[in-house]
Order: sequence, then C-alpha cells, then structure tokens
Amino acid sequence: MIPIYPEQVIYLFTIFFFLILGFLWLREELNQSRVSSKWTADKKSLYLCGKCHLSFLAFRGQTVVRCPRCGELCFLRRRKRF
Ligand SMILES: [Zn+2]
Repeated sequence: MIPIYPEQVIYLFTIFFFLILGFLWLREELNQSRVSSKWTADKKSLYLCGKCHLSFLAFRGQTVVRCPRCGELCFLRRRKRF
C-alpha cells in the first residue's frame, strides 16, 4: 500500500481546487462572450408589444417572440420605428 502523508493530501486538494476554479472561470468567459455577441441593440432586434406597449430586445433572426411582461406574441413587423 502506498503511504499518503497529510502534506500530499493538502497539495492534491489545492491542485484540484485550482483546476475546478480554472474550469469555472473558462466556462464563464465563454458564456459571456457568447451572450454578448447575441445581444445587440439595433432596430432589427427591438420589438414593441401591441398589448402592453413594452419595447424589448430579442435575438436576431427571430420573427416571432413572446413579450416578457404580458406573454403576448410579437411579430417582426410590429417592431418600433425610429
Ligand atoms: Zn406585452
């Protein structure tokens, strides 16, 4: 049997902790870059709800979205004009 000293357990635990921390950091960085590239404020992604008159942003390429306040379906032709 291999003897394990308390110092080795502490080293392994520290290395394992930093590996998990690095993995979580990398995942967060990738997630933020993905989210920020999808959300852009332009008039093609700005919708206006016909029911509650809420202006909100949606992803590009979507033609039908649901209003976040009242749940009404909003179509691309109902977007707010500048
Ligand atoms: Zn609405």
